[in-house]
Amino acid sequence: MTSIAPHQKAKGLKPGQTKPAKQLCSECGLCDTHYIHYVKDACAFLNQQIAELEKKAHDRSRNLDKEDEWYFGVHQDMMAARKKKPIPGAQWTGIVSTIACKMLEKGIIEGVVCVQNTKEDRFQPMPVIATTPEEVLAAKVNKPTLSPNLSVLEQIERSQMKRLLVIGVGCQIQALRAVEQKLGLEKLYVLGTPCVDNVTRAGLQKFLDNTSRSPDTVVHYEFMQDFRIHFKHEDGSIEKVPFFGLKTNVLKDVFAPSCMSCFDYVNSLADLVVGYMGAPFGWQWLVVRNNTGQVMLDLIADELDTQPVFSKGNRKEAVQQSIPAYDKGVTLPMWAARLMGVVIDRIGPKGLEYARFSIDSHYTRNYLYTKRNYPHKLASHVPEYAQKIINQYQLPGS
Ligand code: FAD
Ligand code: SF4
Repeated sequence: MTSIAPHQKAKGLKPGQTKPAKQLCSECGLCDTHYIHYVKDACAFLNQQIAELEKKAHDRSRNLDKEDEWYFGVHQDMMAARKKKPIPGAQWTGIVSTIACKMLEKGIIEGVVCVQNTKEDRFQPMPVIATTPEEVLAAKVNKPTLSPNLSVLEQIERSQMKRLLVIGVGCQIQALRAVEQKLGLEKLYVLGTPCVDNVTRAGLQKFLDNTSRSPDTVVHYEFMQDFRIHFKHEDGSIEKVPFFGLKTNVLKDVFAPSCMSCFDYVNSLADLVVGYMGAPFGWQWLVVRNNTGQVMLDLIADELDTQPVFSKGNRKEAVQQSIPAYDKGVTLPMWAARLMGVVIDRIGPKGLEYARFSIDSHYTRNYLYTKRNYPHKLASHVPEYAQKIINQYQLPGS
């Protein structure tokens, strides 16, 4: 007789039911399944346990004597890369989709957890387990909204797949790592992206309506290293809006509370992370955390141009000055915002220093948000590496 695991007796929540993390829930999908049984331990917002999970995933937690590891986590290699032949319509050059397709084609994995969109709405996420390269390619490009990627966990269990790739952002991957041993897999591969300032679908609409000249035709957008948001429209045109001109007074509540209290921007628990913010404009930024990540990257090495990462400029003053502006929701007039964007782009931080700028700005903002709104959680929720980053700055009220 086959025995039933304890979680298999539990039942996932129905849509609309309040999740255990309440307002802090990032809709990672775990609680839509019977893995809700493990939520107290697994949820990134109920139990911050990045250092412990790093030991399991990478055989060690990050070295707090090395500043680079406070920022970028456990890693054995870092580089800038781009596909020699980019995938049209991918978020950047399509490194994520290419690795997933190659792993399927070579039979290394049987399925890929990734996010397609619904037929009706290009930005409404629809997590799937892709089993063909075509299904993986149908998931290319960011759905810049909270996505319940882990809602497919029961499907994985039923499918009896043994070798799986999961693509996801930090909060999804933390919960996944916490239940990894219960999934019955022989090998799990994790391909992560950095993530920050995510929103609900309704929040995304508010953001687009208040920021873009043509919200309905936006197909893709990114907060770029030139301190502007680049919106790509259906007709291929690019609209650039300076960060400093955002209507922060209107938009201050648009980001999900989970993202306002997140300290895992760089996806600490993935085997390989693919982002852009530590690389020159047009290139992607790769962080190889362990040997599994290296194996994944090696599969597509001949399809990539690469260059070493570099760091230029000094972010500290710009971060310190941005803290009260963020805090008060100050909006600059558009002409001043454009001018400031141009000046900062010329003299501002580049490469890894830009990545540090973005991490510092978000962790200090999120620390203040958590302190104000969830003071009882502050001590356990802020990881030691994030506290070291925050301690470099003077915060209001401290
Ligand atoms: P593609 O080949 O286009 O593949 C994109 C993959 O992303 C797909 O496989 C899809 O399954 C997955 N995906 C799409 N939407 C979601 C979602 N909502 N949740 C989980 N997975 C999803 N990089 C930075 O350096 N700095 C950032 O601040 C940053 N913020 C991000 C915010 C979000 C919400 C997301 C999803 C990604 C973010 N990234 C960030 C990563 C970056 O934008 C690219 O996704 C990454 O560089 C991969 O590009 P690509 O062309 O290789 O991806
Ligand atoms: Fe559940 Fe995920 Fe929400 Fe936490 S973030 S309550 S694990 S759905």
